[in-house]
Amino acid sequence: MLGLMQDRPLALPHIFHRAEQLFGHKTVVTAEVNGETTTTIAELCTRVRRLATALDDLGISADGRVATFCWNTARHLELYLAAPCTGRVLHTLNIRLFPEQLVYIVGHAEDEVIFVDRSLLPLLWPLADKMPTVRAFVVIDDGADTAIPDDPRVRDYEELLAAAEPFSGDFVIEDENTAAAMCYTSGTTGNPKGVVYSHRSTVLHSVATLFADGPALSERDVLMPVVPMFHANAWGLPYGGLLAGSTLVMPGPNMAPQAIVSMLERHEVTITAGVPTIWMGVQPLLGDHDLTHLRAILCGGSAVPKALSEAYREAIGIPLLHAWGMTETSPIASVSSMRSHHEGLTEEERADARARQGYPLPLVELRIADPETGEPQPWDDEATGEVQAAGPWIAKDYYRGEGGGSQFTEDGWLRTGDVATVDRYGSFRLVDRTKDLVKSGGEWISSVELENEIMAHPKVAEAAVIGVPHEKWVERPLACVVVKPGETLTAEEVIEFLRPRVAKWWLPDAVEFIDEIPKTSVGKFSKKTLREKFGGYELPAAAER
Ligand code: ADP
Repeated sequence: MLGLMQDRPLALPHIFHRAEQLFGHKTVVTAEVNGETTTTIAELCTRVRRLATALDDLGISADGRVATFCWNTARHLELYLAAPCTGRVLHTLNIRLFPEQLVYIVGHAEDEVIFVDRSLLPLLWPLADKMPTVRAFVVIDDGADTAIPDDPRVRDYEELLAAAEPFSGDFVIEDENTAAAMCYTSGTTGNPKGVVYSHRSTVLHSVATLFADGPALSERDVLMPVVPMFHANAWGLPYGGLLAGSTLVMPGPNMAPQAIVSMLERHEVTITAGVPTIWMGVQPLLGDHDLTHLRAILCGGSAVPKALSEAYREAIGIPLLHAWGMTETSPIASVSSMRSHHEGLTEEERADARARQGYPLPLVELRIADPETGEPQPWDDEATGEVQAAGPWIAKDYYRGEGGGSQFTEDGWLRTGDVATVDRYGSFRLVDRTKDLVKSGGEWISSVELENEIMAHPKVAEAAVIGVPHEKWVERPLACVVVKPGETLTAEEVIEFLRPRVAKWWLPDAVEFIDEIPKTSVGKFSKKTLREKFGGYELPAAAER
């Protein structure tokens, strides 16, 4: 017997029409190169309708890839809606990729047009001739005084919109499984791989951002996604915010901590999101700003140090809300929300609970499995295994079938490459990425745990741990430490600080002080770059501790 409920597609036109109908009076603020602009959702929706026609005028194919090379702005949001609502596929390009990677990705996705913020033209235009699939580069003027090339491929966004009649009527996507957007993962080995989001996966993930045990977006929120709109769709928050009817604040090109904290204060932001490095930068400024409106700071992308989260709790009363995911998981898969069984715990124990990667969201299934045998591991918070994920917003393959078999299990689960334990309530705690674990004499040392302990030192700004070759133990940990400005610290002090906190055989064999931990294109610690930097590193002889 079949159910008798309507089979309406879960597709982005719903989010657009709902925003247009219910939330026209709400606003989107965007920081630009010289000041801020404010637009209403009603104005934004009219511009989306014009943009829909403009994409036809540009001759973009029915399911053509529409690439963006933009900051977080209202204009970018227009593209987030117009491309998928007209059946095209939004392709957000990471502005921090190396030129060769960009050229590769644009060619691989066969992007037909790239919308580019004027301030970012100098990064993109020199590559234009290596991008034969791109027939138009549409420049969005963000107030930068960058010269605009005199070339027939270059078009002006505002002129294009002004010349286009607004599309009237309803946008329709009949098959909810058609592609809505794509995003390439940076990929530490081989070429970047394309993750392709469907309308269905995007709508369901947007709904999940409204869950009470997740970001819990609501109409009363003022949402500021600091995480870039090219990093897994800013964790799905712009779509979630539109679905909920939240006011949006877009930080634009100025990612400096002072600019971020000022916007949070000025616009009375209630919820924001970004990777730990962003919040590390903002933390010293907290005392100078009134952030009493903030109710949540979503943080993920790499492990959130407990000390950082606690510094926020102490300064402004709210710890960081820790979430875990990947580009392949849309990206939010688990959130470390507080649960009833945490009541009555000490503040320290609650902080430990928050530092975990947390509970799978409804509709997401996570398990840990022995990476070699695939054997499921018990949820006793002792056994470790590779995290595997399944659910309606988890990838089942990469673009053009480039999963290569090894990224997915035989029963169709995504192999994340992360290693974790799980407690009996289902809270995951990531131990490391498979490739970052330090293998010492046949036993694993968690680089993430060591880093978090080192970053709890009051004089440490940042720390990353990598494995370096060792004659006897195969690999031993090397700690790379950045000291806070104006402070001094010795290797012995770091080791003495760690001694009561970790097992003796985990203590790093050496500590190197560096100016900055190299970051990836999405602002995470780049262990790959560190490993290159310290390739051939000679550990001190007396390494036994
Ligand atoms: P990339 O692999 O290019 O960094 P993603 O942004 O998709 O691309 O990164 C996903 C990975 O980031 C995860 O597999 C995990 O290793 C790491 N990660 C994400 N969130 C967290 C978190 N909260 N704690 C620890 N690691 C995290």
